[in-house]
Amino acid sequence: MDRAQESTESLRHKCAACFRQFNKVEHLVEHMKISYHSPHEPICAICKKHCRFYDSLREHLIGPLPKAKCAKQFSERGCRLCLKVFPTTEQLIYHRAACQSLTPLPPVKKEQISAIALDCEMVGGGQDGSLDLCARVCLVNEEEKVLFHYYVKPPIPITNYRYDITGIKPEHLMEAMPLKQVQETIQQILYNGEAIWRIRLKGGKAKVLVGHGLDHDLQCLAMEYPTHLIRDTAKYIPLLKTSKASNSLKYLTQSFLGYKIQNGTRDPYEDCVASMRIYKKMRNQDHYQSACLSATKFVSENAVYSRMKQKDLEKMSPEALLHISQSDFYCWCIDSRSQPT
Ligand SMILES: [Zn+2]
Ligand SMILES: [Zn+2]
Ligand SMILES: [Zn+2]
Ligand SMILES: [Zn+2]
Repeated sequence: MDRAQESTESLRHKCAACFRQFNKVEHLVEHMKISYHSPHEPICAICKKHCRFYDSLREHLIGPLPKAKCAKQFSERGCRLCLKVFPTTEQLIYHRAACQSLTPLPPVKKEQISAIALDCEMVGGGQDGSLDLCARVCLVNEEEKVLFHYYVKPPIPITNYRYDITGIKPEHLMEAMPLKQVQETIQQILYNGEAIWRIRLKGGKAKVLVGHGLDHDLQCLAMEYPTHLIRDTAKYIPLLKTSKASNSLKYLTQSFLGYKIQNGTRDPYEDCVASMRIYKKMRNQDHYQSACLSATKFVSENAVYSRMKQKDLEKMSPEALLHISQSDFYCWCIDSRSQPT
């Protein structure tokens, strides 16, 4: 085989999404089955390479060892917050103002399920003060208006106020709301007057719940919320580190919104607003998709791949393989098209 033949041969087995190359077509098919490439992945605006995480795309474009061709164009016409690239520098400058804007994005479209962000501040309980107890909770809507912001009286004694982080003192909790009452009020806000069984079943008119590390917040509030309505910036795959660990809300706010939070004591309102803005940025992504899925109907599996024969898959071009590939996570852009059920 001469060199030219060899290069076309390897090109034939190049993944159309991440550009990995395979000597044998069956290896490419195997790769596609487990990669879940889709239009919902962060994609380089220049070479169209798909990345699993925004952090990998940022490395690809900005460094420390970026792809030279993409890095050059990106440094001239790319937005460092959303990683989009614009045809001209004028368009980039115009875009930057909007991308960095800290005023809330336009209100939701009528057919969209609206979201509420929640954040808790924890103090310490137990003998060594290591048990997290919710002592303050905040809920904001999409317009960043406070719906609920109260001090909470934990059901067991506080042994460490963690003042340096929380800024909470005993006098703050003198008039605090008992946990039970807090739970009931939050449920009323989130469930929007719907019965819990109906929401568990199909969503109802319940709100999407946004936050960072919501499992822990809900656990400390001794509350449950349907998984298909949870949008957690600590768990959303594109927002993870390349090591698959969660990024901090502080890091995500700095990289996607361009400002600093959590300087000094923590403010649950500030954290709510940051996670809500990140959620809305992700929801506003313009991803091509052939079918309209809703959170309740979303199945995280490469369904088409499992239905097709290996032999037939091996006959397909890399582009065709990518076309039938489906995401293994629920992309938040789907929220912008979902009809309430
Ligand atoms: Zn790939
Ligand atoms: Zn998407
Ligand atoms: Zn690129
Ligand atoms: Zn931008």
